[in-house]
Amino acid sequence: MKLNILASYCFCFCFLACDISKEKSDILTNTPKNVILLIGDGTGLSQVSSAFYFKDTIPNYSRFKHVGLIKTSSSRQDITDSAAGATAFASGVKTYNGAVGVADDSTHVKSITELIINDKIQSGIISTSSIVHATPASFYAHALSRSLYEDIAADLVDSNIDFFAGGGTQFFNERKDNLNLLDTLASRKFKIDTTKLNSFLEVKSFSKLGYLFGKNHMPPVANGRGDYLQKATQLGINFLNKDNSSFFLMVEGSQIDWGGHNNDSDYLISELIDFDDAIGAALDFAEKDGNTLVIVTADHETGGFTLAATKKINDAGKSYNDYSEIMGVFSTGGHSATLIPVFAFGPGAESFSGIYENSEIFQKIMEQTQWK
Ligand code: MG
Ligand code: ZN
Repeated sequence: MKLNILASYCFCFCFLACDISKEKSDILTNTPKNVILLIGDGTGLSQVSSAFYFKDTIPNYSRFKHVGLIKTSSSRQDITDSAAGATAFASGVKTYNGAVGVADDSTHVKSITELIINDKIQSGIISTSSIVHATPASFYAHALSRSLYEDIAADLVDSNIDFFAGGGTQFFNERKDNLNLLDTLASRKFKIDTTKLNSFLEVKSFSKLGYLFGKNHMPPVANGRGDYLQKATQLGINFLNKDNSSFFLMVEGSQIDWGGHNNDSDYLISELIDFDDAIGAALDFAEKDGNTLVIVTADHETGGFTLAATKKINDAGKSYNDYSEIMGVFSTGGHSATLIPVFAFGPGAESFSGIYENSEIFQKIMEQTQWK
């Protein structure tokens, strides 16, 4: 009897010990080689939900198994703007609204693309806004105010970015200082194209690659932007991954936010669906690769958007909510303070579950990749 108890203790102990060491080895081999961070500017849960009601195909958002929530307040305000929000993601610090790559005390904070330089990790930035707009800027620039676009463009030239795509030629070649930063980029190994995205085969041999489409922002997807965001995401991944190097890629669906500011459901939803296509491109690569961590989140929600029942009038002239027909309704023309969902896929994805601060996204990326 006693022996039996002893034997079962031994068995339990071995079983647990084996299980623990198995878990440990899983953790050690579970280090992502690449990270793709997709930011839907102004995308709260109702914006994400709209893909499930208005996209003709199954949303790529539904491919994630690990979901968390972030608190997005900036260092001084309950409601963040995109500059403080993106600086939290890029550098892991909470700062004041309007700040790009600087802390609350105005000192420069290093972004992920500056921290990974020594490890020969490639980095890329993609947006549908101007590439010097607050969200992409926070990943390579340092400015006390997000409106210092020409200074931010100069920071891009001096940055470690290997691939970029977005709008904003005027901040490079129509500057107050008369410099032509497109020439400077070319002299620093960049192949710059302002006409169209290339196929990967056409650009494979270049060491750095930059696309600038239009003087300022790119057009909304409803006004002819086409499948740019999805295609740029695919090209960026292939370009950064071409020598089998590790890479960090940030992709922004910039204009979901602008649909929210305009209280324009059609604008918002078409941009959200376009962003979901880019998520699909990232996930397709990550599924095949097996070593890529994909994170999808937002800096904040915009518009106080919700999917409400359509108001109708019945035969008796009384208004009622028709629960069989939804419509987008807004409560503000600005941002809101609602918690924001985080979706993660790939090695390390589990660590993005839970409720935490927006600045912890940076810390989790650095911990999971061991880039720091
Ligand atoms: Mg933005
Ligand atoms: Zn906004």
